Amino acid sequence: MSAEHRWSGWPGAWCLDCGVEDALERCVAEHNDGLICECGVFMCEVPGHRLKPCETHRREPCPSPGARLFDPYNPVVGAKVST
Ligand SMILES: [Zn+2]
Ligand SMILES: [Zn+2]
Ligand SMILES: [Zn+2]
Repeated sequence: MSAEHRWSGWPGAWCLDCGVEDALERCVAEHNDGLICECGVFMCEVPGHRLKPCETHRREPCPSPGARLFDPYNPVVGAKVST
């Protein structure tokens, strides 16, 4: 089961399911650490490289994946809840 947040967009992203603010976005606003590659390059585009997770702004797992509680485009009415 995945506990990934579903981000509303960029910038100003929030999770469509639980409503939490995107920690990476706050990270970028404060010090950009979240966009630094594991190799140390800012916004590195080398395939296979990954961003180094910021210690200050961690993305916690989504507490209610698929809940759509904060989804303005697909309100929870009639939503199919996957188990
Ligand atoms: Zn950060
Ligand atoms: Zn890199
Ligand atoms: Zn979430």
